[in-house]
Amino acid sequence: MIHRFEIGDMRATILSDGPLRLGRPGRIFTDTPAAALGAALAAAGQAPDRIFVEQNCLLLETGGKRVLFDNGMGTDTMFGTACGRLPNSLAEAGVGPETIDALVLTHAHSDHCWGTMGDDGTPNFPNASIYMAEQELAFWTADRITSQDDVSLAGVRKHLLPLRDRIVTLRDGEAFLPGVQAWLTPGHTPGHLAFLFDGGWCLTGDVAFHEPLSYAYPDDRSSYDADPDQGVTTRRRMLDRLASERLNVVGYHHPWPGLGQVERAGGVYRFVAAQAS
Ligand SMILES: [Zn+2]
Repeated sequence: MIHRFEIGDMRATILSDGPLRLGRPGRIFTDTPAAALGAALAAAGQAPDRIFVEQNCLLLETGGKRVLFDNGMGTDTMFGTACGRLPNSLAEAGVGPETIDALVLTHAHSDHCWGTMGDDGTPNFPNASIYMAEQELAFWTADRITSQDDVSLAGVRKHLLPLRDRIVTLRDGEAFLPGVQAWLTPGHTPGHLAFLFDGGWCLTGDVAFHEPLSYAYPDDRSSYDADPDQGVTTRRRMLDRLASERLNVVGYHHPWPGLGQVERAGGVYRFVAAQAS
């Protein structure tokens, strides 16, 4: 499944890796009554008792390079069997994996980088450099990782560390490709990056990962965030900026294809999906 559009004067395509079946809403949004979560989900036309999210990978063509932002679950099925569709979406777009010049990672969780390496230990994108925050790489290669990070750590060791020679680390504010700037947004992980694009766009990653719950309950301390309090602070800071600057948003986990804008709504926020063209 693909969706073509433009970001400034750059060609852009959303490539679906398919949806994930996650946990019960109250296991993820821990501060909000379950009834309120269920009502918000139902009002958005979603299942009230289970979180399902899309995976919208952005392919950007800039400066003569093909750049893929996040790459989905690969062959792993811990969040169901409807994911792992990125290779099909690339084929539908007529893009060979060998023509991808850069893999850019918002962070190193499973659903964002487990499409990097094939199960046979060869890279799925054989000619791609890998860009990620220096803080993210440092976190996943540090000595002290808690047990709840074991699954993610195993993924980092399978998908990223064998390709360490290709990893380029990014700093906050770094303009590392034409029209593309890194924005350090820690909390979900210590080195989570959002990306700002020329033309007034922002790829938000997992800072406000769920539409509508992350917008309606931005102060909820998410069990998915490595530092839930920092996650709240960063989410508020990001959503304020997106609303104030009226940036166009690429939402990785938002309902397909994940494009829209953020508005303030009575002390919280609302995501307004772009009209499908
Ligand atoms: Zn995610």
